[in-house]
This record gives sequence, structure tokens and C-alpha cells, in this order.
Amino acid sequence: MCLFCKIVNKEIPSNVVLENDHFLAFHDINPKAPVHILAIPKVHVESFHEVSPEIMAGMTPFIQEIARETGIDKSGYRVITNIGEDGGQEVKHLHFHILGGAKLKWEHFSDADPKDFI
Ligand code: 5GP
Ligand code: ZN
Repeated sequence: MCLFCKIVNKEIPSNVVLENDHFLAFHDINPKAPVHILAIPKVHVESFHEVSPEIMAGMTPFIQEIARETGIDKSGYRVITNIGEDGGQEVKHLHFHILGGAKLKWEHFSDADPKDFI
């Protein structure tokens, strides 16, 4: 069973932010922003590339609710999902990073600036 399935089953503790029958949100163990929450489907899905439209239909309002509950909906936030090797996905259970609570940087994405590969 994968790490996040164990978190869903409460075999590994997490700091839960929001939960319903199909989705779970908890604080990232290594936050990259003042607010850094992970939102996952309770069912195991490897990544965004495998997710069904039905799951995404529920995930979208779930993420919006997390933003409201944590008070970052007005100030703004970022949603990221890493996919596979090049995407830097470490945990192979679909998760959306919800980051906010401060003006977020964008520069770190320049580590793969196309001009560096010409
Ligand atoms: P990825 O690199 O796969 O997109 O992101 C995985 C995220 O999971 C990382 O931000 C990492 O800090 C977080 N993480 C890894 N293990 C745990 C854990 O046991 N508990 C929690 N809450 N977060 C975790
Ligand atoms: Zn899993």
C-alpha cells in the first residue's frame, strides 16, 4: 500500500484540514509556503495522467473549499500537481499541492528554462 493510502487509512498520522467520503486534505510535512496543503482522492490513482473526469469533478470544489477554509481564497494561491519523473513526482498517489499565505515566487521554475537546453 502506498504512503498516501496509509494516510487515508490512518495507519500513518497526518494533520487533516478537510475530509469527505472521497477526498482528504492534510498539511504537507515539509511546507514550502505558510500554507501548504495536499489534497488527494481516497481511492488510489497514480497521478493526474490517470485520473478520471468524475474524480476531478469532485476534486475541483474540494480544493476551492480548502482555500476558503484556510483563508487564502481572497489573497490567492497556487495549485500544483507533479506528474512522473520529469514532473518531480515523489509520491505515486495523485496529490494537489495547495500553496499560499504569502506572495509566491515563480523563479524556481526557471531551472528548466528552454534556453538552457539549446
Ligand atoms: P511530490 O514531490 O510527490 O509532488 O510531493 C510529495 C509531497 O509529500 C512533498 O511535498 C512531501 O513533503 C510530502 N510528504 C511526503 N511524505 C509525507 C508524509 O508522510 N506526510 C505528509 N503530511 N506529507 C508528506
Ligand atoms: Zn495510494
